[in-house]
Amino acid sequence: MAKATTWSKPASKALRAAGVKVGSIDTSATPGFKGDKRAGEKLLAERQLVLSDLQERLYANGRSGDTRSVLLVLQGMDTAGKGGIVRHVIGSVDPQGVDHAAFGVPTAEEKKHHFLWRIRKQLPRGGQIGVFDRSHYEDVLVVRVHELVPPEVWGKRYDEINKFERKLVDEGTTIVKVAMFVSLDEQKKRLMQRLERADKYWKFNPADIDERAYWPAYQEAYQAVLDRTDTDFAPWHVLPADAKWYSRLAVTELLIEALQGLKLDWPAAQFDIEEQKKRLAKA
Ligand code: AMP
Ligand code: MG
Repeated sequence: MAKATTWSKPASKALRAAGVKVGSIDTSATPGFKGDKRAGEKLLAERQLVLSDLQERLYANGRSGDTRSVLLVLQGMDTAGKGGIVRHVIGSVDPQGVDHAAFGVPTAEEKKHHFLWRIRKQLPRGGQIGVFDRSHYEDVLVVRVHELVPPEVWGKRYDEINKFERKLVDEGTTIVKVAMFVSLDEQKKRLMQRLERADKYWKFNPADIDERAYWPAYQEAYQAVLDRTDTDFAPWHVLPADAKWYSRLAVTELLIEALQGLKLDWPAAQFDIEEQKKRLAKA
């Protein structure tokens, strides 16, 4: 649980997607968190230690045969801050315990297969935290918006995704789905920064400007995702992402909650401790 003094309720409850209308999300809000940026950044540093400890427990158990894993699914428009979550939230835990995958335009090989083919190959191994920077949801987002396949094909994918995620959960993966929302204005600011700073040019893609014309279509596609794939076994969290400090803190809390739900003890020694101490003393 997050600290009672700064969170009015757990992040998972504050961000629950049930019933959310995409068009009315206040992207600058900080749901559930009562502090300001300074308090948020201070708390983030503390909570990263908690996350890191829990991740190490997950990893340790994985090494001892526990097949459970956690999968963070990040979705959001360009500049929403997915990369920042990877760097600042996931970046605070031991990299050997992270299975990271970013999904871009499918390769020629990937296009020949079912849309979940490339996803299945990147699922987290037991004991790992998986991170999807974009995901199978692109196949009902960009694909729907740009009609990359006919409606009867993408239309079936919501049910396919639910079935796929149900199976994943049954097999021991805790899925944490986060949809990050920035405003159209905030996106413009962030894209402009990419054009003004030499250290950001590499992130800029001229096509991102063209995509802005499709904003309403994307909103509709995100609405369908929330309406049709927000399940009790793999719920969506709607994350206002104009304030980067908040989005990073909130995702940290969501991961902490997911890991705490696994009730991870340190794995017991598979040897006689006293005997080994005696042996070592003489060695
Ligand atoms: P970025 O995350 O900025 O590296 O961009 C990746 C790009 O790949 C985005 O423009 C996505 O819309 C695109 N993309 C991801 N998955 C798919 C997909 N299944 N079909 C088509 N485009 C995709
Ligand atoms: Mg991009």
